[in-house]
Amino acid sequence: MRHGKYAYIIMWGVLLALFCTSVPALAEGRFKIVIDAGHGGRDQGAAGRKTQEKDITLKIAQRTGKYIRRRTRGVDVILTRDKDEFISLNERANFANFCQADLFISIHANSARGYAEGTETFVWNKRHNPWSLKLAQLIQEEYTERGKRKNRGVKKANFAVLRNTNMPAVLTEVGFISNAQEEKYLRSRRGRRKLAYCIYQAVKQYLETLK
Ligand SMILES: [Zn+2]
Repeated sequence: MRHGKYAYIIMWGVLLALFCTSVPALAEGRFKIVIDAGHGGRDQGAAGRKTQEKDITLKIAQRTGKYIRRRTRGVDVILTRDKDEFISLNERANFANFCQADLFISIHANSARGYAEGTETFVWNKRHNPWSLKLAQLIQEEYTERGKRKNRGVKKANFAVLRNTNMPAVLTEVGFISNAQEEKYLRSRRGRRKLAYCIYQAVKQYLETLK
């Protein structure tokens, strides 16, 4: 009986050790960022002359993820989608909640009937402040100073992905694809990389404020 009891304890010890090493994020309490590429699949989002919003958002989300993964320690990046597929707004928010993400960044491109230019980042009205607001401000500063994009500021909106996520969350609009000049910038690899780099830099500074 005695040996059986020890064997039982050792078995659970081994299983626990295996579990912790196979799930490093759990073991080390790593910081998790969910990056959400807006739209996808049958939902193309806004349409420019040559571009669909869903393609721009995916490329910028992937590039932002790469910058954060390569240049930031102790951070896990999870994308809501890594290809052209449809995901509902609720699924995106539920996914971030399920992952117990520490930060949620939704990437979109803007569209307007008349002339419009520039970047803007949204936070939800009531919850998440001041951390959502902090990240939104950092992103807008980066777009303006590093990216030389026109700054339309930080705004409040009752978007589902902001309302239904349980962590600091922002939705950032990287430019207007209805504007031919901005569409050209968003279509260029250089433009997309610059914007992704701005978001990465904002995340980096955000993480520094947490230390
Ligand atoms: Zn959108």
